[in-house]
Amino acid sequence: MELSELSKKRLEGVDERLKAVVMECATRCRFPFNVSEGLRSEAKQREYVKQGKSRTMKSKHLVGKAVDLYPLTMNRKEVDWSRFEDLAELMFQVAKELDVEIGWGGNWKSFVDKCHFELK
Ligand SMILES: [Zn+2]
Repeated sequence: MELSELSKKRLEGVDERLKAVVMECATRCRFPFNVSEGLRSEAKQREYVKQGKSRTMKSKHLVGKAVDLYPLTMNRKEVDWSRFEDLAELMFQVAKELDVEIGWGGNWKSFVDKCHFELK
């Protein structure tokens, strides 16, 4: 399902390989998802660390090598919290086909972050 214009805009500045995976994933995905964030400023990152939303100043968002994706309900009005695993599965499948190595925050041990995908 096609990404919204806003989601596409949020992919600006993101590494082309990761962007390609997200775009292809959107084309194939049976449910909509949005891009909540891609490239992040240092000031924003500092704010997130302060708020406990992130634990590092070495986030891959700072260099455009990470995106946060949220699966949506079919009417696109709400986050569908049951779909993160499905989305991750498709992301890994597409990444493999495009020969891009990615990591998923849902696999992290200490700080699970299911919306987060990054280049390895
Ligand atoms: Zn993230």
